[in-house]
Amino acid sequence: MPEADPTPILRRCPDCGSGVKRVLRSANDKRRWDADAWRRYRCRDDRCNWQGLLRVARHRRRASPPASGVAALARMGRITVLLLMTVGLAWGGIVALQLMLGL
Ligand SMILES: [Zn+2]
Repeated sequence: MPEADPTPILRRCPDCGSGVKRVLRSANDKRRWDADAWRRYRCRDDRCNWQGLLRVARHRRRASPPASGVAALARMGRITVLLLMTVGLAWGGIVALQLMLGL
C-alpha cells in the first residue's frame, strides 16, 4: 500500500542535488529503532544513482487500529454467552432430573 508522504517538501539528492523518488525500504531499514522517522530515496539522475535514507521532518506515529480491540471484546462476549448457555442448560437438566426422580 503506498503511503502518502507527510512532507510535501521536495527532497534533494545529497550528492548531486537532483530530485529523488521514494523507494521501498529494505528489511534492514525497518529494523531500525526509529525506522518510522526515515524514508529510503533514490536519486532520479541515472549518472549519480545515489540511494539512501532521509529523515522525515515530522515523526509520524502509526496509531494501532481500535478494530482489533473491539473484535477481541466481541469474541469474549460470545464466549461468555456460550458459557452461560451451557451452564443454564446443565442446570436446567439437573433440575429436570430432580423433578423426574421426585427429589
Ligand atoms: Zn544524485
